[in-house]
Amino acid sequence: MNNETVKIQTLNNNNRMSTQELLQLITQKLEEGYTNFEIDGCGQHNIGGSSWSKDRKSELLFKIKNPGQRAGAMALKGTKIVIDGSAPADVGWLNSGATIIVKGDCGDTAAHCAAGGKIYVSGRVGTRSGALMKHDPKFEVPEFWVLKNTGSFGFEFMGGGIAVVCGWDCENISSVLGSRSCVGMVGGTIYVRGNFNDIASCVEVKPLDDNDINFLKSGLVKFLNEIDKSELFDKLTNFTEWKKIVPVSSGNKKERMSVSEFRKNNWIENGIFGDFINDDFTVYPMPSTGAGRIHIPKWNKENCIDCKICFNNCPQNAIEYENKIYHSADDKCIGCGICEAVCPKKCWEIISDRKEIS
Ligand code: SF4
Ligand code: SF4
Repeated sequence: MNNETVKIQTLNNNNRMSTQELLQLITQKLEEGYTNFEIDGCGQHNIGGSSWSKDRKSELLFKIKNPGQRAGAMALKGTKIVIDGSAPADVGWLNSGATIIVKGDCGDTAAHCAAGGKIYVSGRVGTRSGALMKHDPKFEVPEFWVLKNTGSFGFEFMGGGIAVVCGWDCENISSVLGSRSCVGMVGGTIYVRGNFNDIASCVEVKPLDDNDINFLKSGLVKFLNEIDKSELFDKLTNFTEWKKIVPVSSGNKKERMSVSEFRKNNWIENGIFGDFINDDFTVYPMPSTGAGRIHIPKWNKENCIDCKICFNNCPQNAIEYENKIYHSADDKCIGCGICEAVCPKKCWEIISDRKEIS
């Protein structure tokens, strides 16, 4: 193995290396036995994700500047990724064991689907961060640490893992978790310091116990060290300022609202697009042929240039052609409307109301 650092400059004389070229170069160097990389990026995606060393044992180190989306996506145990500055969306998406350190802010969906490893962020993270985090008990618990705050809709459908939102320097905002966080959360724990509101009714807020405090104390030492902010340890360890959010245990679940009650009191009249769409809410059967069709194509010969595009594109071979007359065979046509869509001369008209045809 070769621990000499591979330095990759992705912009030369205004020529930008594509994501594909960069990932191919990294793969080539990994196969040559290199383990340490310094990458000066210009927005290339997926840097550091799904990489392993030639001997499948040695640790990998990626130091990255200016990455694109999905830095460290699906990154594996034994990989360390250090991002110098901020990073766009999907940092650590489906992290599978790597340690990912972002010395700045993250875009939306940081740690989305994270299933292993640790993600340390020295700033803020965007909307839907921590959503769908999960924990397979065969592997270590994934951790997601954020020094400041999160955007809205965080931790949606979280099924496992631990998130820590330190709320540092956020005293003036009303919620360090934004709005509508924890919707559908069924597992895991979120530790929060500072104000928060508008969390889903499927979670409950609890004070910390001794195990929580011990976890946070030891975790904060590592986190703050990795983001070069060890001086904040004393300020963040007043545990009266912290709370934890966990899913409501099944015994404490509120009585479930009936569907009719929900429709009456919570649902927007006529559905979520009811303001824009008129719908009689009839449920139609599966497409069928003949008289059961919902839509029936009618051919108008006026503009036809006999190009046969409709004839060749009908998925049912339903268009019949005889003496320059086209028609759709009732026993084959399912009323899909493709003939109407492909005709360059708008010769087909789809008629929706069966009564109109008969
Ligand atoms: S509506 Fe669909 S199935 Fe019927 S003739 Fe046109 S393309 Fe063929
Ligand atoms: S696609 Fe239109 S113009 Fe072409 S043959 Fe069919 S009906 Fe005529």
